[in-house]
Amino acid sequence: MMSIRSLAGACLSAFAALGAFAVPASAQNYPTRTITMIVPFAAGGPTDVISRIVTAHMAQTLGQSIVIENVVGAGGTTATTRAARAANDGYTLVTGHMGTHAASVPLYPKLAYHPEKDFEPVALLAGTPILILARKDFPPKDLKEFVAYVKANAEKVNAAHAGIGSVSHASCELLNSILDVKPVGVPFNGTGPAMNALVAGQVDYMCDQIVNAVPQINAGTIKAYAVATPERNPSLPNVPTTTEAGLPAFQAQAWNAIFAPKGTSPAIIATLNAAAIKALDDDNVRKRLLELGSVIPAPANRTPEALATLVKSEIAKWTPVLKPAS
Ligand code: ASP
Repeated sequence: MMSIRSLAGACLSAFAALGAFAVPASAQNYPTRTITMIVPFAAGGPTDVISRIVTAHMAQTLGQSIVIENVVGAGGTTATTRAARAANDGYTLVTGHMGTHAASVPLYPKLAYHPEKDFEPVALLAGTPILILARKDFPPKDLKEFVAYVKANAEKVNAAHAGIGSVSHASCELLNSILDVKPVGVPFNGTGPAMNALVAGQVDYMCDQIVNAVPQINAGTIKAYAVATPERNPSLPNVPTTTEAGLPAFQAQAWNAIFAPKGTSPAIIATLNAAAIKALDDDNVRKRLLELGSVIPAPANRTPEALATLVKSEIAKWTPVLKPAS
C-alpha cells in the first residue's frame, strides 16, 4: 500500500508531468542547435557590433552558438521580412531597431511585415544616441556653422545613410526637416560602409548611431558636431549636445533589440530574454557597450512587454515625422 507521503509524491510527479505537457518538447530542451541572428545591415555597423557583443555572451548561457547572418537591403526591411517569415521555433531571430521596427512603417506603405503583429519582442539590447557627423575636411567648424553651410549649399551637399527607413536615414530626415534642406541622399547597405565613405571623404555628412562613431571620432578621422541627446555621452565628453550647440529641436536616440517571429513559444522567449539580461549584466559586455557610447537599458526596460511598449510608442512618434517624406 502507498504511504501518504509517497501518494503525495506521486501526485506531485503527475502534476509535474501535466505541466511538462503544456510546454512543447522542442521548447523544453531549447536550444539544441545553432541559432541564427539576422542582422539587417552590413558587418561592422552599429547593429552588427551590438549584436555580436551581446550574442557572444548569450551563446555561452544557452550552450549553443549564435551565428550572425548579415542580410542587407532596403534599409533593413529585406532582412526583417525574412525574419518575420522564418519558422517560429527560436532558431531564427533578428536584431531589429528604431528603423526596421518603427520608422519603416510610414516610409514603406507596402511593408511586408508589421513590427507589432509579426514579431514577438524578446529584449532591448542598447540605446544608441545619434550624432551629427561629417567628413573631417567638411568646412563648418561647429554646429552653428554646419547649419548655415548646409542651408547655403543645400543643392550641393550630400548625406550618407543606410537605406530608406534605416536609423541614419530617418534621423537625418528629422534633422533636414528642422533645417528645411533636402540634401542628396547617398544610400549604403549599412552605416559600416557609409562610415568608410565618410572617412574617405566621399560623402559630406551623416546622422549615425554612436556605436559606429566613437572609434572614428577619437581617431580624428571624422568630425562630430553634436550628440542629439539631452546629456553629453560619457564616451565622448568633448562632443556638445545639440542643445548646447544651438539646435535643441534635434533630439534623437535609436535602439537595437532582439525579436522572434510571431508565435514563438513563450518558454523560448523567456529563455532568450533571460540570456539577454544575463549578457547585459555581465561586466565585460557592459564595458564594451559603454565604451562605444551605448545606453544599457535599465532592468524595468528589459522585458518583452517593455519592448512591445517601446515599439508601439516609436511607431507613433516617427509616423508623423516621416509621413510627409514618403
Ligand atoms: N543600424 C544600421 C547599421 O548597423 C544603420 C542604420 O540603421 O542607420 O548599419
